[in-house]
Amino acid sequence: MRTLIRAARVFDGERTTPRADVLIDGELIAEYDGQPVDVEVDGAGKTLLPGLIDAHTHVFDGNLEQALGFGVTTELDMFCLPGNLARQRKLVAERNDVADLRSAGVLATAPGGHPSQLMAALPESDAVGPFDTVANVEQAKAFVDARVADGADYLKVVIDDGEIQGADLPVLGPEVVAALVEAAHGAGLKVIAHALTAGEVEIALDAGVDGLAHVWVDGELGLVERVRRQGVFVVSTLVYLEVTGVEGGARTARALHEAGVPLLAGTDATPFAPFHGESMHRELELLVQAGLTNEQALAAATSVPAHHFALPDRGRIHPGLQADLLLAEGDPTTDITTTRSIESVWRRGTKLPR
Ligand SMILES: [Zn+2]
Repeated sequence: MRTLIRAARVFDGERTTPRADVLIDGELIAEYDGQPVDVEVDGAGKTLLPGLIDAHTHVFDGNLEQALGFGVTTELDMFCLPGNLARQRKLVAERNDVADLRSAGVLATAPGGHPSQLMAALPESDAVGPFDTVANVEQAKAFVDARVADGADYLKVVIDDGEIQGADLPVLGPEVVAALVEAAHGAGLKVIAHALTAGEVEIALDAGVDGLAHVWVDGELGLVERVRRQGVFVVSTLVYLEVTGVEGGARTARALHEAGVPLLAGTDATPFAPFHGESMHRELELLVQAGLTNEQALAAATSVPAHHFALPDRGRIHPGLQADLLLAEGDPTTDITTTRSIESVWRRGTKLPR
């Protein structure tokens, strides 16, 4: 199956070409060779983007389908229990009408630590049973080995004593966090830390994490330069903070961006608000409000997460890459809200029926 998208504005993940032809050949993006095609799409007045990558989600049944309808072609899950993960992976392997998935599997937290307190809020159908936790340094290596056995793509570590949510929760000690990071790096996994205050971020930086799952929110911005120096990326989750009424995130995002720290668009979507797929478009607006140019915000949702999560087959429009694409009416490089005007979505070269 060959589909030619003609004369569209193309944002390739990094920069914009005002008018170009893009060929989808089977599952891949290809150079147009002038040979006959099966389908032609008129791209005039429209913008072709790489499929969006949401760098912080929580996937339950139905969510990957929901995400793809809004042009999110890959979700980076930050906590998924083994049974659920196996089910979602089977879905992704068998179908092109759902977003692709990478996952941390079970996150590392202290017994009774965040997000245990949120589990009770899940609907019956999504209820999760007890999960592996880490009580001390001695358990760190075995915990990481179990994640490797589950097929986790990276490790998520929670450093959160509940203060921001007005709770008092058990939390991993700095030495346990350090042992987890060491074990994960030894196993070839990147480590992403959930930390909401500068004090928690400092523990993550001391341990040598690769990324932060949220911007921190306590207004203490003295660590921004250290985040940059250590080459740590930060997932924004501004829409999550907006939905939960937590202030201070936009200021941190702005400071990180101004310092040159890579920001990755992520929503923290759950079965509740923020919703899968839809909330990604709000996240893009919030990133622009925080000082990113439209193209920088679009890159934060495409090429930048692909780079930091080692997904070289996506996040850009380039011959040979996977045809995960979003065609929007209008021009998101001048009006970011037009990413919502979705004309077509392709996942692995297959157009999503609308
Ligand atoms: Zn989360």
